[in-house]
Amino acid sequence: IAALSVHSVAKSFGGARVVKDVSLAIRPGEFISLLGPSGCGKTTLLRMIAGLEMPDSGTIALGDKDITGVPVWQRNIGVVFQNYALFPHMTVAENIAFGLRTRKVSRTTIEAKVRDALKLVRLDDFGPRSTEKLSGGQKQRVALARALVTDPKLLLLDEPLGALDRKLREQMQVELKMLQREIGITTLMVTHDQEEALTLSDRIAVMSDGRILQDDSPKEIYERPRDAFVADFIGMSNLMQGKVVEFDGKKRIAISEKAVLELPPDAISAAHVSIFVRPEKLSLDEVPGAAGSSLPGKIVHVSYSGSVTHCFVDVGLQKPLTVLITNRSSRDDEGPRVGQPIWVNWDARNI
Ligand code: ADP
Ligand code: MG
Repeated sequence: IAALSVHSVAKSFGGARVVKDVSLAIRPGEFISLLGPSGCGKTTLLRMIAGLEMPDSGTIALGDKDITGVPVWQRNIGVVFQNYALFPHMTVAENIAFGLRTRKVSRTTIEAKVRDALKLVRLDDFGPRSTEKLSGGQKQRVALARALVTDPKLLLLDEPLGALDRKLREQMQVELKMLQREIGITTLMVTHDQEEALTLSDRIAVMSDGRILQDDSPKEIYERPRDAFVADFIGMSNLMQGKVVEFDGKKRIAISEKAVLELPPDAISAAHVSIFVRPEKLSLDEVPGAAGSSLPGKIVHVSYSGSVTHCFVDVGLQKPLTVLITNRSSRDDEGPRVGQPIWVNWDARNI
């Protein structure tokens, strides 16, 4: 049985349909990210699961219990909000104890639970401090401790690391994931950061304009995006438009007057197709590769970024192809040059 089941949930504000018929199931212990651009309805969906917003239609269940009409404080769900929403006039310990106080737990139990929660987020001695002087990373941990102290069945995180700078964010990603695995809590995280979703999640639900477009493992989402939006939103991609033609008795894709490409084995049948290929699936070579999986071109721009280099190659299409190469060769190698004639080769299974 799923830890959380969202079934056909919809929500409008005024006349605007913000969440349109969303269904989602999360297995116990799973870490799921809800990934999509700003304004696509992620927070609204999270708030409905938390009980802060009532859906217009559809149902939400925790385990086998329908909680659609259950008030927030009876749901046993921990929430970390985007801006942490700590109470500024309370100490760290009082912030964390808040959820327990409203539940009329005994004072000694509260003290023990707060101590455990502080230890869990590695803020052991921070209890008596004011929240106002804490760093961003420390505030984030207090918010997490406050969400976890009631032993919730589900943890909801709304852009939990969004306010932190990059280095700290990467460090907190690792901490968050280790913590989640350690306590084994079922987690739903909202983010617009594709890299964050890819690194943290067991599963990603890609959302656009109030709908979930694809719900799969990070690898499936990245390697087999279901449509142009998902492909483009997650990572870099080369897009080519083609017409399906008969060539030497086989179906091929014509992408220009001169170039005819091999169809990938699992290609669907259509007159017109969009072809996506990731930059790291392309390679640069001085000689052509297999017929139909190779295009001649010229390097028009080179963007060096340390461990990898992105090469932009004009192959006679509207836009140059982006090819990612890893810089594993000798430090003294010159690397690709602008103006250099080159072949772009690939394996048809990767388009
Ligand atoms: P996201 O979290 O993906 O950025 P939100 O769920 O916050 O998106 O918002 C989706 C849309 O719903 C936005 O256009 C937003 O302005 C609108 N919206 C959200 N909450 C309310 C509200 N309480 N009243 C009116 N409009 C809202
Ligand atoms: Mg939001």
